Amino acid sequence: MDFFLTEEQKIVQRLARDFAEKEIMPKVSTDDHAHRFQNEIVKKMADHGFFGSVFPEHYGGSNLGHIAHAIIVEEICRAESSLRHFFNMQALTCPLTILNWGTDQQKKKYIKKLIQCELFGVNAMTEPNAGSDFASIQTTAIKDGNSFVVNGSKMWISNAPIMDAGVVYVKTDPKIIPKHRGISCFIIEKDMPGLKRKEIKNKLGHHCAPTGELIFEDCRIPEQNLVGELGQGFKIAMNALDFGRISVAAGAVGVAQACIDESIRYCNEREAFGKRIGEFQMNQQKIADMIAGTEASRVLLYKAAFLADQNIRNTLESTIAKHIAAETCVKSARFAVEIFGGYGYSEEYPVARLYRDAIMYQTGEGSSNITSMIIALDGLGWKKVKVEY
Ligand SMILES: Cc1cc2nc3c(=O)[nH]c(=O)nc-3n(C[C@H](O)[C@H](O)[C@H](O)COP(=O)(O)OP(=O)(O)OC[C@H]3O[C@@H](n4cnc5c(N)ncnc54)[C@H](O)[C@@H]3O)c2cc1C
Repeated sequence: MDFFLTEEQKIVQRLARDFAEKEIMPKVSTDDHAHRFQNEIVKKMADHGFFGSVFPEHYGGSNLGHIAHAIIVEEICRAESSLRHFFNMQALTCPLTILNWGTDQQKKKYIKKLIQCELFGVNAMTEPNAGSDFASIQTTAIKDGNSFVVNGSKMWISNAPIMDAGVVYVKTDPKIIPKHRGISCFIIEKDMPGLKRKEIKNKLGHHCAPTGELIFEDCRIPEQNLVGELGQGFKIAMNALDFGRISVAAGAVGVAQACIDESIRYCNEREAFGKRIGEFQMNQQKIADMIAGTEASRVLLYKAAFLADQNIRNTLESTIAKHIAAETCVKSARFAVEIFGGYGYSEEYPVARLYRDAIMYQTGEGSSNITSMIIALDGLGWKKVKVEY
């Protein structure tokens, strides 16, 4: 065992940090940026190869692996957390699902274009009435000739307003028990007749990532767009979450690190009672908790990513990493706001944005309640997800 990054990983880290500091950080301080998706930043990220870490070279990837992916995500999210969503849509849950489960034709048609951001992707699981309870989705896809007719809707879908193509999970056998066996995965494209999109505006945070609804009204999906086998959708989605949670954990670590950076700077600048506020032990306690929690999250994150790089199932490890990183990130954002006092409540300083963005990490890719449940059920031995290695 060793804890050193390889030379390649160090190069990637420097590249991503440099990009974040030069291309992203100067822009996040303006209000304009805070409420707008910036296509050119995401495209530049693609040009730097940031979405290709876990893809082979013949699909335009760098094959550097999940640890490299985690390093890049941390650096980017240290600057702007919204950009984390694009790592799912252009690098993981969308194209990686096609890589792992799709046909050769699907791989050739979509993967390279997604990781190079020639196409914007989606990964559509959640519905207005089913998020955590994914097996209870109600959107149906009924076979008719050579296609499936889809009716229903998807909610909270990242990239929906700007999407070109992506994966959607629907019920192809709505009556089957157990329910999760009736779910299948398909590739959709924005111009399919019967598919409408609607932007969700006024989100609490993550303002640079567009989010929306997908509405299917007798939308026909050709049968060759099926990903994997009929009824295999639940398994495909859960497998995608194992990788997605690594990326979410990395984003949470990046936000937590940003909270540390801002708090340390302010603790050294601001004075009260004739002292720098960093001299007060209660503020030092917060700094210590933030640093210790973030470093622990980072180690768990690298362990989960290491297993993914060895092709070992990492459901428990990625869930633990995501759980701890999300909780640490929210706690660190709260501490940062407290350290900034009244100025923490102002959009003039970045900690207000970090606070709004941090909370998202407790929801996406399995809420903190759901990740707690997965960890506890494995521990109790009632639903094992851990594999021996
Ligand atoms: C900005 C944003 C982007 C998103 N992007 C995507 C996307 O690209 N694709 C996509 O498919 N989804 C996306 N989501 C949706 C997200 O994955 C869901 O919001 C999340 O899974 C929770 O589902 P829900 O909102 O339906 O909450 P619910 O499932 O209704 O949960 C509500 C509350 O009840 C708790 N709860 C539910 N079940 C249990 C249980 N069994 N035990 C204990 N507590 C429970 C939850 O933890 C939560 O606190 C996004 C959400 C947001 C906010």
